[in-house]
Amino acid sequence: MTYLSINENPKNFNNNTYMKKVSFLILIIHSSFYFAQDIPKERVVNIVSTLASDEMKGRKFGTPENDKAAEYIASEFKKDNLDYCFGDSYLIPFEYKGQKGFNVCGIKKGTSEKSLAFSGHFDHIGTNNKEGDNIYNGADDDASGIATVIGIADYFKNKKTDYSMVFMAFNAEEIGLKGSKALSENTNLTPVFSNITALFNFEMLATESQFGKNAVFMTGDEFSDFDELINKNAGNGLKVYPDPYKNEQLFYRSDNVNFVKKKIIAHSISTVDMTKATHYHAVNDDIKIVDAENLTNIINNFAKTIEKLNTKNFTPKYNDKVNFDF
Ligand SMILES: [Zn+2]
Repeated sequence: MTYLSINENPKNFNNNTYMKKVSFLILIIHSSFYFAQDIPKERVVNIVSTLASDEMKGRKFGTPENDKAAEYIASEFKKDNLDYCFGDSYLIPFEYKGQKGFNVCGIKKGTSEKSLAFSGHFDHIGTNNKEGDNIYNGADDDASGIATVIGIADYFKNKKTDYSMVFMAFNAEEIGLKGSKALSENTNLTPVFSNITALFNFEMLATESQFGKNAVFMTGDEFSDFDELINKNAGNGLKVYPDPYKNEQLFYRSDNVNFVKKKIIAHSISTVDMTKATHYHAVNDDIKIVDAENLTNIINNFAKTIEKLNTKNFTPKYNDKVNFDF
């Protein structure tokens, strides 16, 4: 910002040519910021703290606050100029055990009909009846994943891409992956899902991974070449590690699995250190535990990685180790 000190010299103030040069310089600096389009940390913090606020009361499926969270995500999808996945709304209703709720789905058209999909779940586990802090804010689980999905939509808002992009926020994950199941089985979406080349499901990215910063792990790494292809194109040193918690069977325990059933390449991506995550399904999973710097870097670096992918250089495949019937 050196041009400011130039302005401070009163001799230069009436010099028209000089001012034109300065204005031009300011314009260039502004444009380069604009085209860089990195998602600012404040934006990430804003999304996570909106979803993880006490007013959202833990976003439990079947509550008005859960609907409110869905509407908030839909409004962000609108700001990012996404199209509806079908019909005339981002909000796609479903019913589970007599209770109604919404999944959220938006799409950005690319040159190709083929798409990459990005997802996370926005529901969490509500509140308890104890004294004191009794709200499960779910900042990490999984407001961080939704911030990643919206962050990627922000990043590509004014960019043309080869792949189309599908953005999904699932409901009712915490009661057994019910929202993603309903959405994956919704026949109105068959044209959308039949074009998905790969789904990135973001699940708990708010804390530093056991591999350090700017690093994530991926579930089901042994079943496809997805991680190898991502690492080959990784932006800014982002690294995808194999799942270090294989005994937990995380590949089959998150929303990606409802798309694995459809034989779509679908992995969950996370940073959570399962050996010491004391905030997991606890009331202290709130904004205070979020490493916003690292989360923002990961979102931007995923976006930069995805920016390099096209229908020719990125066509991940399952190998024969994967199990489709479970
Ligand atoms: Zn959870």
